[in-house]
Amino acid sequence: MMAALSAARRGRALGVDIGRVLVLERNQTLGKKLAITGKGRANVTNTGSVEDFVHAFGPSGRFLYPAFESFFSDGLRDLFAEAGLELKTERGGRVFPITDDARDVVQALALLLSHEHVDIRYLARVNEISPTASGWIIRTTTPGSIRCKTIVLASGGKTYPGTGSTGDGYELLRRLGHSISQLYPGLVPLRCTAEWLAGLDGVSLAGVALEVWADGRLADRRQGEIVITAHGIGGPAVLAVSLVVGAALERGEPVVLRLDLRPLQTFQQVREDIERAASSNGVLAYISKFTPRRVALRLIDAWGVGLHGKATLSKKTRDAIAGNVKGISMICTGMDPFSSAIITVGGVSLQEVDPRSMQSRIHPGLFVVGELLDIQAVTGGFNLQAAFSTGFLAGKCAAESVAKSLISSNIKELKR
Ligand SMILES: Cc1cc2nc3c(=O)[nH]c(=O)nc-3n(C[C@H](O)[C@H](O)[C@H](O)COP(=O)(O)OP(=O)(O)OC[C@H]3O[C@@H](n4cnc5c(N)ncnc54)[C@H](O)[C@@H]3O)c2cc1C
Repeated sequence: MMAALSAARRGRALGVDIGRVLVLERNQTLGKKLAITGKGRANVTNTGSVEDFVHAFGPSGRFLYPAFESFFSDGLRDLFAEAGLELKTERGGRVFPITDDARDVVQALALLLSHEHVDIRYLARVNEISPTASGWIIRTTTPGSIRCKTIVLASGGKTYPGTGSTGDGYELLRRLGHSISQLYPGLVPLRCTAEWLAGLDGVSLAGVALEVWADGRLADRRQGEIVITAHGIGGPAVLAVSLVVGAALERGEPVVLRLDLRPLQTFQQVREDIERAASSNGVLAYISKFTPRRVALRLIDAWGVGLHGKATLSKKTRDAIAGNVKGISMICTGMDPFSSAIITVGGVSLQEVDPRSMQSRIHPGLFVVGELLDIQAVTGGFNLQAAFSTGFLAGKCAAESVAKSLISSNIKELKR
């Protein structure tokens, strides 16, 4: 959507008739995934600086500088304002539509596309794109073909496939000779084996810290909330570490997750609290102060301490309980599938795409944007802004390349 909007606007600004801008969408509606983002509220961007965004994308972040420089969060805010949609900022600089409804974001973009007279063909699933001497031929699941000068491929990743993003673009690019790195789910709940978790799905633990130990080394630590799931743990702190966990599992490293239930206290302080609790209300009451009672009961059973009331504890038992409070270990056995992940990790090799235009270095006239690229950030509105920014830049450059080729063929005609 953003690429089409940007192409149409750039064409108009150049004063050259670049022809029709056409969106091919396999669904019956636009932006099915966008409409469910941010738990239905669409965290469209973040108030952070370009540097913050680049940092959020880790090692691949530098690739995005030109895209962010061409179109950033202020541009997005202005664009939505044009369509009558104001944005608001929340905790962590997360930006949402003021209406708290992601569907309004889709509608705003659709409105702007209609103002630019962009054509949209629905139920048009692209299954082949082939270069020709003068441009491209596109085939969809409906009969016939479409000839065009340039293509912006914005078919998204593989997560939540019910939204239409089933990873078609990776296959189309692979067939054109592009390299696609290993794809795996990102920002996703983790699977782990720990008996105490059984039957507690849906229970959340707030204010905990989660450490990732990959191959015996501390690889990440996040503080926040975790939610117990049917197969392990999810929630904000888990999603945040999942990118590091996924990379470690891909490298074949064993991953252990350690949960600290009292991250703001030292081991020594916890041990003293346990001693005090044991001689008053008991250890169960102490653990229930910062953990739901169901969880506290399970943990006490799992630790085999069986302390439900007043007791005198040996130093060894006190240390063992404090050690558990400060570090419950769980072996991570994998990640939930693409269908429950927020993003796809991996994508088209960044070496094969020019960051100044998003144009393929293998096939001029083909532009690749959004989640198809091998870029991935933590939550906070970074991923959507990257999709908007790369789409904007590609659309602009695609229009310029069509205009340039039209002008040069006109000059050739005149010279004849
Ligand atoms: C549940 C969920 C919540 C999220 N929340 C947030 C959030 O709040 N903030 C944030 O920054 N990120 C969020 N994300 C991530 C964000 O949605 C993606 O990074 C972003 O949508 C990627 O944009 P895209 O344009 O590359 O692809 P998509 O948004 O996936 O769009 C691709 C489009 O291409 C169409 N398509 C696919 N294949 C074909 C084909 N062969 N032919 C024709 N059309 C095709 C699809 O139907 C779809 O409309 C969330 C993701 C999920 C799953």
